[in-house]
Amino acid sequence: MDANASGIVQRMPVDPELLEILACPNCKTKVDLVKNGAALKCAQCKRVYPIKDDIPVMLLDEATIEP
Ligand SMILES: [Zn+2]
Repeated sequence: MDANASGIVQRMPVDPELLEILACPNCKTKVDLVKNGAALKCAQCKRVYPIKDDIPVMLLDEATIEP
């Protein structure tokens, strides 16, 4: 049996309405989708928040800073 679990998992785009209400917890700036929808970036403080299982993780502890 070929359990091809990885690689062909179809990612659902993050709901645009959800995106509208998402804001950086650090500076309250609206975030933008980056990495083909795999992360959210704050243009103000350059923090990148991961999206895990299609759920944006808006936590400072999970964020990375990418200039
Ligand atoms: Zn920010």
